Amino acid sequence: MDTLKVGSNTDAWCTKCKLVLAHTIEAIAGGTLKRVQCNTCRGKHQYKANAPGTKAEKKPTLGLKSKNLTPKSKSKASDFTRLLSGKDPSSAPSYSVSRHFVRGDVMNHATFGVGVVVEEKDVSKIEVLFATGAKILVHART
Ligand SMILES: [Zn+2]
Repeated sequence: MDTLKVGSNTDAWCTKCKLVLAHTIEAIAGGTLKRVQCNTCRGKHQYKANAPGTKAEKKPTLGLKSKNLTPKSKSKASDFTRLLSGKDPSSAPSYSVSRHFVRGDVMNHATFGVGVVVEEKDVSKIEVLFATGAKILVHART
């Protein structure tokens, strides 16, 4: 199949013609069409696949299914603040692979910032919850 790239044509909703028409792709970001130019009226506008009001069918049902599919993601960023309560991040040690962490420990990671150890996966891996989410880190490596 042909891949979408700047300069190629795609069907899109024209905000001026009020029709789904052939458009020339002007900008793509992150694999999604951002801006298009209408081949009919030459108008440039944001890419819209369908007429306004038409529900895009892109959104999968994120409700119950994703919870069942990702049992690992029980550690959420929203828990982060709760886990940090009563701890003192300013005195937390810096993360280092050679340091040994236990559940409940607070650390300062060079990239992710302050984190709380939520689980000891095995002797060399820990799950750490940062403000941005949980990460698996190596620890106690000698
Ligand atoms: Zn148009």
